[in-house]
Amino acid sequence: MSMFERLRGFGARPAPAAAEPAVLDWAPGLPHDAGGHAGIGAGHIAREGIDTSHKVILYLEDVTVSFDGFKALNALSFALDDGELRCVIGPNGAGKTTMMDVITGKTRADEGKLFLGQTIDLTRYDEPAIATLGIGRKFQKPTVFERHSVFENLELALKNDKRWWKTINARLKSWQEDRIAAVLATIGLAGEVRRPAGMLAHGQKQRLEIGMLLVQDPRVLLLDEPVAGMTDEETAELATLLNTLRGKHSIVVVEHDMDFVARISERVTVLHEGRVLAEGTLDEVKNDATVVEVYLGR
Ligand code: ADP
Ligand code: MG
Repeated sequence: MSMFERLRGFGARPAPAAAEPAVLDWAPGLPHDAGGHAGIGAGHIAREGIDTSHKVILYLEDVTVSFDGFKALNALSFALDDGELRCVIGPNGAGKTTMMDVITGKTRADEGKLFLGQTIDLTRYDEPAIATLGIGRKFQKPTVFERHSVFENLELALKNDKRWWKTINARLKSWQEDRIAAVLATIGLAGEVRRPAGMLAHGQKQRLEIGMLLVQDPRVLLLDEPVAGMTDEETAELATLLNTLRGKHSIVVVEHDMDFVARISERVTVLHEGRVLAEGTLDEVKNDATVVEVYLGR
């Protein structure tokens, strides 16, 4: 049975009459067992409500995005399994960043289906709501709070409150302290907790920003060219970090650096002209004649 046969029935349920408000009862940063305290009500989408019974956590079908008639995504179909780490490669302009923009609600799809799990229609939510549903996204350029310490950056990200002066002064609950400590260990910055983020090396900043996503415990992580500008050593450290995260989150990594892809890849998707050109192991796509022609052979 092909992947798309397995997935048949996606989106087949009738759409509710009116779009739900983009207000979700699941508060990012709450531990999974805090549902009762968070007051998750019937009819609201909780993060635990992501239905991955068909294995797939992220599903795109025939997604098209046009800019002034130019199709940056052209009937793109893509499916990510729950817990998978997928690398997406492709020449400049292939549509890789646009794919992340459309998943996160930064850009609207003109056509096509976008689902989180089996039932959550992402086209019905705006960008902040999609983040709250458990999709974390890292842009190429690190966006840490330079004047704040490593610890404060993680604290701010965990509490996710724009009123940072209030946030910094509110005492952390013990589960929040535990989570920050766990993330610090995961991203290898436990020795830098008091350092202002602006003083970190580029590779450390990139890991801190991944940590700022991890404190939210996202189900899906989208990373756009995370090793750009990194030294070989920093690149190796990031590969180690991603290998640690494997299976704990579902991850999509867009990357040009083939040595890095080789260190982390399971399945690789090649995008070209807004659609999937090939999919398979790195060796399979490297030896695919069409891929060699449009991309690797250049
Ligand atoms: P990639 O990340 O694979 O390099 P992008 O997704 O950034 O590619 O871009 C795909 C194509 O869409 C490119 O030709 C790019 O110029 C175009 N594009 C992306 N965003 C916009 C936009 N906001 N307006 C117009 N064209 C855009
Ligand atoms: Mg890009």
